[in-house]
Amino acid sequence: MTDARFTVDTEDRLGVYDVTDEVTETLPDDADGVCTVFVRHTTAGVVCNENERRLLGDVERLLSSVVPNEGWAHDELDGNADAHLRATLLGNSLTLPVSNGDLDLGTWQSVLFVECDGPRTRTVSVLTHE
Ligand code: ZN
Repeated sequence: MTDARFTVDTEDRLGVYDVTDEVTETLPDDADGVCTVFVRHTTAGVVCNENERRLLGDVERLLSSVVPNEGWAHDELDGNADAHLRATLLGNSLTLPVSNGDLDLGTWQSVLFVECDGPRTRTVSVLTHE
């Protein structure tokens, strides 16, 4: 197994970033198997979906709609309960197929990092299992 990491510098409190290239660059040459993409944070997530500008905005709209920023118990601690809750809905890891050192994704699939409490510098692990 190999364990690589990269960082994502996010620009807004809520935002979606295509990290497909960053994940691919961590994969060993000629690797075959699967990789685990693991977000090392409690207020960000990762999903596999289409990188289409309007859809990325729709994801932000969905998260804001489903989890409004109001009145959560955790807000008494540090005011970011909505970010934690949005991250729990997204999940913090993906298992993806790897073939010949490259991600073996569907035509319209990308690896999308979702920031829920930015702007911050985030760390993502990529564990490759051959
Ligand atoms: Zn918190």
